[in-house]
Amino acid sequence: MDLSIVIPIYNEETNLPALNARVSAVLDALPMQTELIYVNDGSHDRSLEMIREMAARDPRIHYITFSRNFGHQIAITAGLDLSSGAAVVVMDGDLQDPPELIAELHAKLNEGYEVVYAKRRTRQGESAIKLLTAKVFYRLLARITSVNIPLDTGDFRIMSRKVVNALKQMPEQNKFIRGQIAWIGYRQTFLEFDRSERAGGVPGYTYSKLIGLAMDGITSFSDLPLRMATFSGFVVSGAAFLVMLYAIYARFFLLHSGTGWPSIMVSVLFLGGVQLMAVGVIGEYIARLGANSRQRPLYIIDDTDIPGAMPTESKSVERALRG
Ligand code: UDP
Ligand code: MG
Repeated sequence: MDLSIVIPIYNEETNLPALNARVSAVLDALPMQTELIYVNDGSHDRSLEMIREMAARDPRIHYITFSRNFGHQIAITAGLDLSSGAAVVVMDGDLQDPPELIAELHAKLNEGYEVVYAKRRTRQGESAIKLLTAKVFYRLLARITSVNIPLDTGDFRIMSRKVVNALKQMPEQNKFIRGQIAWIGYRQTFLEFDRSERAGGVPGYTYSKLIGLAMDGITSFSDLPLRMATFSGFVVSGAAFLVMLYAIYARFFLLHSGTGWPSIMVSVLFLGGVQLMAVGVIGEYIARLGANSRQRPLYIIDDTDIPGAMPTESKSVERALRG
């Protein structure tokens, strides 16, 4: 297999016909052996039926379907796990990532890179708030992480088998794949494209899912929030110490001690806020530690037509064999 295309699908019934037609046309034109893997992430519309039909009609097309909605990053992970191409393309299923770019991405990869990501030159049809928060987030992330996560890119990219194999060795539960790929290294480059509007349907990424993704990105690649919690502790207690010195001085040398209600309220509330914030930050990290220590499988596959590919089963068999 020369090239695999992995497309996560969550309620994309309105986009699937056009998507499949455009991707198939691109694959037809490529002089190599290709496969197209749709990962159904617990859609509750007709997406699953549609991809099953497509897979039945075209031997190049395969499907994986989850037992429920596990999220975009996990759906990509499953597709990568079961792909067999020497190179793998990951793209969205809502036609925001133009399939026609696949050939260019593949050609660029052959120039001697392991990853070619597609960078958004422009983005159409997104709300001003989403554009602004995305912009701020990627720049913040770039500042606080030691890994060079490319600005203004999603998961639309092509990567070599080497990179896919490296990704498979990173079993963390809280996936931020674009960060993991940056962390892996090798020669990486990018192509620019204009990201169009979602063709039909509604975004599967709700704001709470997006915030979750952002938090995963930060906590997986930076300890700065923890350090800031420590740092704010030092600053606040330093300030409190100075106030204490003044309070003692005022009591014994100036012989006046005011009524003190405002100062007590302010310091109690301020300290309470700082403490809660610090505890919250620590909690975010501990929650992720907990998720990883439970060692649950990342996803449960309900059904797939990819031969020999029920990883949850093979894992439990593996465990049983190990004793
Ligand atoms: N998606 C998914 N699971 C989810 C949410 C989204 O597999 O829980 C898929 C969705 O079908 C699409 C891609 O991930 O192919 C990107 O989702 P979306 O277009 O909603 O994200 P946005 O473009 O708004 O960032
Ligand atoms: Mg989209």
